[in-house]
Amino acid sequence: MTNLVPTFLLVLALAAPALAQSSQRGVWSADMNRSVAPCDDFFEFANGAWRAANPIPAAMPRWSRRWAAGESTKEQLQVILENAAGKTSQPKGSVDQLIGDFYGACMNETEANRQGVKPLQSLLARIDAMQSPADVVQMIGTFHELAIPVPFAVFGGSDNNNPAEVIAQVLASGLGLPDRDYYFKPDARFVEAREKYAAHVRKMFVLAGVGEAEAKASADTIVRFEQQLAEASLDNVARRDPKATNHKMHFADLQSLTPTFDWTGYFRRFELSNDDVNVEEPKFLEAVNRLLATAALGDWKTYFKWQLLDSAAPSLSSAFVDEDFAFKGAFLAGATALKPRAIRCAEATDDLLGEALGQKYVARHFPPEAKARVQQMVKNLLTAMSETIRALDWMGDETRERALEKLATFNPKIGYPDKWKDYSSVSVTRDSYWDDVVAARRFGVRDNLLTIGKPVDRGRWGMTPPTSDAYYNPLLNEIVFPAGILQPPAFSMDANDAVNYGAIGVVIGHEISHGFDDQGAQFDAQGRLHNWWAPEDLTRFQERGACVVKQFDGYYIEPGIHHNGKLVLGEAIGDLAGARIAYRAFQLSRQGKPPLPTLDGFTPEQQFFIAWGQFRGDAVRPEFARTMVQNDPHPIAKYRVIGPVSNLPEFQRAFACPANAPMVRPAGDRCSVW
Ligand SMILES: [Zn+2]
Repeated sequence: MTNLVPTFLLVLALAAPALAQSSQRGVWSADMNRSVAPCDDFFEFANGAWRAANPIPAAMPRWSRRWAAGESTKEQLQVILENAAGKTSQPKGSVDQLIGDFYGACMNETEANRQGVKPLQSLLARIDAMQSPADVVQMIGTFHELAIPVPFAVFGGSDNNNPAEVIAQVLASGLGLPDRDYYFKPDARFVEAREKYAAHVRKMFVLAGVGEAEAKASADTIVRFEQQLAEASLDNVARRDPKATNHKMHFADLQSLTPTFDWTGYFRRFELSNDDVNVEEPKFLEAVNRLLATAALGDWKTYFKWQLLDSAAPSLSSAFVDEDFAFKGAFLAGATALKPRAIRCAEATDDLLGEALGQKYVARHFPPEAKARVQQMVKNLLTAMSETIRALDWMGDETRERALEKLATFNPKIGYPDKWKDYSSVSVTRDSYWDDVVAARRFGVRDNLLTIGKPVDRGRWGMTPPTSDAYYNPLLNEIVFPAGILQPPAFSMDANDAVNYGAIGVVIGHEISHGFDDQGAQFDAQGRLHNWWAPEDLTRFQERGACVVKQFDGYYIEPGIHHNGKLVLGEAIGDLAGARIAYRAFQLSRQGKPPLPTLDGFTPEQQFFIAWGQFRGDAVRPEFARTMVQNDPHPIAKYRVIGPVSNLPEFQRAFACPANAPMVRPAGDRCSVW
């Protein structure tokens, strides 16, 4: 997701219609490693054989049927794009012209290599010509027009206190390493990251034509400059508390917070009126103000040049593409090869013209029957959550009523938007790929900023239709499932209910549960950041969360590198509650129907859990696991499988696990939230 997307958009899910019950498949039994017992190591049992037979491809950081399906989707996009690119004289601004020419320009590697750094030269020259702090302020606006959010970002998002209205949100941003801790932590892996980063910055400057000695000095400047921004930034755990990033203020107060930044000029540039804004991290803006007042102009020039090179590299010559990959793809994610250019161009088209490409994608790959079956599943999941809330023994009636009231407002979005974005004003040609990227980025920035000062448009989507992912937005109480996740193995028209509820059903349950995790539970039925909990219920809820924090603090990827329970709490609650309500919804879906058959020796209940293990379980490269543990609010897949099931009596019963089995947490340690 881009930096223009709210940080609280949370992930994950899928489904299809009814074939004759007898013809529907169960789990993939050949994927399983039946030499281990399900109660000893369920992760290995569910799909260990698939992982052994399918090593992670060189270009991927992790691999499973689910990630393979995501890559297959991109091959489907490639077919659509090649078809569009093969047509000539399409009407200017039509979907085929836009995506065909964008993709066609992207695929022209020869031209990109011929141009080298040339597409950036006029902007690099403008950076060099800056004379004063006022020019720095202007340049920040120029970068924001290009969707390069440095050193902070501004975007339109719902007001936490009145979500029906969109206001300007000002976010901390501007770091080249993944987060604050990378700049300061003494552990060997962070020291190494800083060294590799400095070397990467130096190499990029050399590619841009800077001499070795100056490039080295520039890299040192970048690390030092960004350290000052990092020092004033919240860390990943602190940012999870919505109250810590809720600072609505009048325009005049924003101006007093950062006297050296001309906000009036900035707002005029983007045609915004001087209304109230939310400043997520006021301390960060104070640091920006300090840097504007005191940092050497030369340091600002170096910083802008680096951020431009970093943002543009994937769209430039193969030398830039390769160096960008060496740091982000290889060092941070462990991949050993770039994806094919056609796939990278399909990803870029999806990223920048996603609702144009998405129209073509859903017409081919998301039939109305699939949408109907998923809608029915979502309905059953919401009913299951409602029954769960009604039956909770630790919650008082007043809080319970409010929880049910919140659940009743949930808005599911399935597949694709009802109204497509109109990109016809974007100028796309085959002449220069970087120019196309700039045009599409400018459109994206404007499209978002135009929402400010208006009532929220509930029809907008935060992900494109081909995306193999899902999210919950607490401000709108919406759960959103793009067509890209509603595909096998998450959802299969030819799979039985046990399998579909175990895969996409848990994903749907996971998104619903985000409305009631440590973050989501702070937002009320109207989407306001407003406490609706009776004090004693809130205490009990937090105690239950603390159990999950402790459980995940205990999980590690290698000796000494543990998950951070507080960072993954929301996702872990989502998986635990999601699995439980999906199991319940599966049972609801079978009411009045004949029981599903035992297949390959597995009961329907066992198939449900195996399907979760098969959908969620993946192999992950150690480099990527280290990056995830530091930055990703999602646990690695192994613990997303065994973490929830080891808390669930439903799992213990399904596999008749003894109470002392490794996959059964001792009664005193067992966590249960929803
Ligand atoms: Zn999630």
